[in-house]
Amino acid sequence: QPAIAGVSADRLTAFAAREAQRYRLSRPLSAKALEAGAGAFLNGVPMHWMRDWPMPHLPLVAKAKGARITDLDGYGIDDFCLGDTGSMFGHSPEPVARAIRKQARRGLTYMLPTEAALEAGRLLTKRFGPFLWQIATTATDANRFALRVARAVTGRPKVLVFNGCYHGTLDDTMVELSGGKTVNRAGLVGQVQDLSLGAVVCEFNDLAAVEALLAKGDVAAVLTEPVMTNCSMVPPDPGFHDGLRALTQRFGALLIMDETHTISTGLGGYTAVHGLTPDMFVAGKCVAGGMPTAIWGMTEAVAARFYAYDAARAPGHSGMGTTLSANPMQFACLVATLSEVMTKDAYAGMEAGAARLAKGLERAIAAHSAPWHVVRVGARVEFICAPGPLRNGSEAGLAHQPELEAALHTGLLNRGCLIAPFHNMMLVSPATKERQIDRLVLAFDEILSELFS
Ligand code: PMP
Repeated sequence: QPAIAGVSADRLTAFAAREAQRYRLSRPLSAKALEAGAGAFLNGVPMHWMRDWPMPHLPLVAKAKGARITDLDGYGIDDFCLGDTGSMFGHSPEPVARAIRKQARRGLTYMLPTEAALEAGRLLTKRFGPFLWQIATTATDANRFALRVARAVTGRPKVLVFNGCYHGTLDDTMVELSGGKTVNRAGLVGQVQDLSLGAVVCEFNDLAAVEALLAKGDVAAVLTEPVMTNCSMVPPDPGFHDGLRALTQRFGALLIMDETHTISTGLGGYTAVHGLTPDMFVAGKCVAGGMPTAIWGMTEAVAARFYAYDAARAPGHSGMGTTLSANPMQFACLVATLSEVMTKDAYAGMEAGAARLAKGLERAIAAHSAPWHVVRVGARVEFICAPGPLRNGSEAGLAHQPELEAALHTGLLNRGCLIAPFHNMMLVSPATKERQIDRLVLAFDEILSELFS
């Protein structure tokens, strides 16, 4: 009998059907509301990715607070997805909610800074290092603008990214390796350009490949996460980041660290915790406690090159910034988050909770002799339905088991636990209680009993 990640196909099919039926029966109110009201949206969802949730239909959220969501059907759900990192510090942290209420009385957007903007700048430097900052609204945009500066100051066309990466929807990074070549990603909608003109891709943890590509002299920047988190989790080999830094310096390419997810690592992100020295730093999602905000910064040295470039360029649209970015609501939330939410104590709690979760999942995997493994980066935990560790995006692609993972996710939600839809990522917020973690471990163990025994 064929098996999927150690699970018999028949058993998986039966489990998936059972869980789908259970979900359907338990959520009549969400189903009814969607049937009446989702028709106004393309594909019935307000944002394309919401089609990626594996349940028979979506639950409608009534409210969320801390690490708990209440849905329209009245279920309390332990939230380990946390808006795929946007709410990594919990839903509506009190200092952020307070800042929103206060700013709401003073205007929402002016295209002018506030005193809080200046305070946010100081706090960003204190938290993430001596970069010169800009504020964007999404991490996608932050990466897009960072890349623009990298190309401007180096005068080179290409960005080097790693196979299996995700840095947002900016086209430049939407490439993959195919037969050793850089090609447009297969799933891209409406892409008419050959993206390999501006991008080149190789495998993570492959310094020889990085060196060969940089040696061609046309790479403006290497854009990477410190740990790959968007194709399951792929940790860097010991020495990989040192090697990457040395090679980028040797060949005159900038190093852009995208910490949008790895900000889960600890205070200041992976960069601060592990002493990395990128030329540019990007983060988004949770930096303003869930208010749409992203940050990007460059070292003084890069800024000096940019000032020289800027002084010489023709006047006109720079292609950087968006109208609603750097608005006062973002600054109010940035200040509240950086000073009162994203704290050492908060990370200590998140780390302890995530360690408890990882240990519990590992125990369950071992108890059922599943050929799976668990990876943790600070507050971020992932179970991967394959042996590990994974070393690059190709291995991660092969480890991904969509059918099995979809059934698992629905099974977990039926047991009151929500995890991120795209792979098997879980986040522990400062508000997450030990009993929520233990419930998730118990639910996972129960599902493995059904799948393996
Ligand atoms: N960078 C990384 C590492 C990400 O994981 C993501 C989103 N998952 C982005 C950038 C883009 O973020 P956004 O969707 O907020 O633009």
